[in-house]
Amino acid sequence: MTRTCQVVVTGGGQAGLAAGYHLRRQGLDFVILDAEAAPGGSWQHMWDSLHLFSPAQYSSLPGRLMPAQPGETYPGAGHVVDYLADYEKRYDLPVQHGTHVQAVRRDGDRLMVEADSGTWRARAVISATGTWSRPFLPAVPGRSVFAGRQLHTVNYRCPADFAGQRVIVVGGGNSGAQIAADLAIDGRAKVTWVTQRPPRFLPNDIDGRALFDVATARRRALDAGRDDTGGVASLGDIVAVSPVRAARDAGLLTAMPMFTRLTTDGVRWADGSGADADTVIWCTGFRPALSHLAPLDLRGPRGRIPTNGTCALGEPRLHLLGYGDWTGPASATLIGVGRTARDAVREVTGLLA
Ligand code: FAD
Repeated sequence: MTRTCQVVVTGGGQAGLAAGYHLRRQGLDFVILDAEAAPGGSWQHMWDSLHLFSPAQYSSLPGRLMPAQPGETYPGAGHVVDYLADYEKRYDLPVQHGTHVQAVRRDGDRLMVEADSGTWRARAVISATGTWSRPFLPAVPGRSVFAGRQLHTVNYRCPADFAGQRVIVVGGGNSGAQIAADLAIDGRAKVTWVTQRPPRFLPNDIDGRALFDVATARRRALDAGRDDTGGVASLGDIVAVSPVRAARDAGLLTAMPMFTRLTTDGVRWADGSGADADTVIWCTGFRPALSHLAPLDLRGPRGRIPTNGTCALGEPRLHLLGYGDWTGPASATLIGVGRTARDAVREVTGLLA
């Protein structure tokens, strides 16, 4: 069955909902197709102890402040899911859950969006499919010979799953530090934390609020033609959220350099030393989930689609939201995506006029 509407949004996580909010305000006819069976995007799949790195009021989508979570300065992932479910309902956003988009193709002056529930003909598409469904594992020698378990951040739930095991956590970003801290504080697993370069903790008083201010200042500097301030990367990689701080201050979060290879029973470093392991958890990031856009043939370097703001350079009817800073400063955060969604919808509205 083929249906028509002005705009199709692919993905109904926070980025898709922020787009929906602005599309609704513009009075456009749109639908949001989301592969998840329930609201909340990838927040539904985060590990049990995960908390935001910003307080609730600094983690809000346009129009509605996230309420504080009682007893928590930094809300848990479940609270974010509740907030997104409420947001979807409050603004009566037309989200079709359990709908996977397979392909977006050109068809004259329309884009055809092929989903497992049927096809949509649209004048514009906003892609907001996130990165969670594309975990990235680096090509390290011996990965295929290791006889233990290899997981990614997306598979981690709680320390109880690793009780009595020797676990290597790989990755010097927030996920790696938080999962290593979670396991180390629990104490039931023997944890070795491995990072490519020495971990760079942000100062204790810097959380998501400050990071957003820094990202905003950088954008303003660049827009005004001034020197690049370096953005948040110049400050450090790891937000010192309380479990990370606690583990670090207790001496439980000391990183080893990256090993050079895996063996059947563990890992080996360049100097010949090694560690046996039952499980390796790769906290090595994500790539943008863009395979549905492959028929448009827009891919640029590093698996991204080159954009001007949110608009795809090779296809003015396509906008990208979320994914990372390349689609707008802080576009892949709760507080930042509202601004890029507003800009994208403004451009789409202009295109349709
Ligand atoms: P997602 O939440 O992944 O939503 C994308 C949606 O698209 C999903 O529902 C998915 O099922 C769907 N989808 C994918 N492919 C298709 C398809 N082909 N067809 C249909 N639907 C599809 N940000 C903050 O602001 N504060 C934080 O504290 C914070 N902590 C984070 C901690 C971790 C561990 C991670 C990984 C990220 C964190 N982020 C944080 C960053 C960011 O806010 C989240 O990654 C957020 O989930 C991104 O939202 P999104 O809407 O872009 O993507």
